[in-house]
Amino acid sequence: MNMLGSSFEPAPDEQRSGKLRLLRWLGFGGRGQPRDLAEIDVAEWEATPRQQQLQAIEQFLDAHALDLTPRSLKVAWTYLSRSDEELALAIDRRIKSGRQITLEWLSDILDRRDLSDEAAELRELMQRLEASVEEFGKSTREAHGAASEYHSALSGQLGELERVAKASAVISEMAQIGKAMLRRTHEVERQMLRSSAQTRALKRRLDEARRCSEEDHLTGLPNRRAFEAVFDNEYRAAQEAREQLCVVFCDIDHFKRVNDDHGHDAGDRVLRLVAEMLAQVSDDRCHVARHGGEEFVVLLRGQSPQQALERLDKVRGELAARRLVNRATDTPFGQVTFSAGVAEVFAYEDPRSALQAADAALYRAKLEGRNRILLAEEQDSQQAIAA
Ligand code: GH3
Ligand code: MG
Ligand code: MG
Repeated sequence: MNMLGSSFEPAPDEQRSGKLRLLRWLGFGGRGQPRDLAEIDVAEWEATPRQQQLQAIEQFLDAHALDLTPRSLKVAWTYLSRSDEELALAIDRRIKSGRQITLEWLSDILDRRDLSDEAAELRELMQRLEASVEEFGKSTREAHGAASEYHSALSGQLGELERVAKASAVISEMAQIGKAMLRRTHEVERQMLRSSAQTRALKRRLDEARRCSEEDHLTGLPNRRAFEAVFDNEYRAAQEAREQLCVVFCDIDHFKRVNDDHGHDAGDRVLRLVAEMLAQVSDDRCHVARHGGEEFVVLLRGQSPQQALERLDKVRGELAARRLVNRATDTPFGQVTFSAGVAEVFAYEDPRSALQAADAALYRAKLEGRNRILLAEEQDSQQAIAA
């Protein structure tokens, strides 16, 4: 059987000794001196399942006048078994084109292929491993442990790689290591993603919970709890900077009537409006909060009580000047006003006493006819102590 097609020429005589060596190399023939091809027992030929391949190899080498070298053998064997389709196709093309298959040509393509294939495979593996190791290093302690584990396995393989001429076995070992490592990496990555998503969700919920616990839902202003924290901070900051600090207690006048006359929802809208107007005076040194019900507090740093009063009085005047209408019923709310009391915090023993003094001044403002703001006086501090 001629597996190589009709283009092959018979082998020249000088190829005989080569053929014998080839036969021995392939496991045929005896030990000792190479025998002549004619000496080889036919039965020996027949008995072997490699016979046809052998003949084909022989013909191949003969047809192309190829010397017997490990490389030419490998090429012949590979070509005939078509175990390397790419190489086989290259040889087919060469045969078809009528050009000779020389050892030089074979060396050329084999060197190129060996270098490019193995080097590329190695390079790709190394890149993947390096990337994985970097990922591991970045992520968790567990990942770091795994990376070192793989790293030492990899180092072992690399050591071996240097020692052996043919790297394919090592490459496949490395591929296994690489695959195992990638699997592990993905697992850790998934865990990391899951836990970081959980952490983010938890953080969002915590932020939301904190925001809810410090914000008044109706007006969006800081609530009393948040105000107390701000009060403490501002108290310390003003004390350190030797600045004045004023606290203002505001209360909407006759607010119960708004609710009674227009309903609770309308009352809520009025509350929101007053909150918005008060919030307009706020800045990084002026804090407005809803203290509860229809009461608001304002904290002003670096302002005298008189300045604080004037600043709030502007808002009071603006609100009092508005003629508010209930949108739901188109009926007027009538004049909406608030009263307030102002206290200079450091005139009192502590922030709490100052707030009570401001409240006492507010109470006086109510008594004096509402829609006004009063500065706390001595009597307010007495009242604060009594309260
Ligand atoms: P004064 O001028 O003396 O402060 O009279 P007032 O009616 O404003 O005071 P009072 O304490 O008698 O009534 C306050 C009302 O504020 C009673 C309460 O129902 C109402 N209120 C408190 N919180 C809210 C709220 O969130 N929404 C509404 N709509 N009303 C509220
Ligand atoms: Mg009140
Ligand atoms: Mg009121």
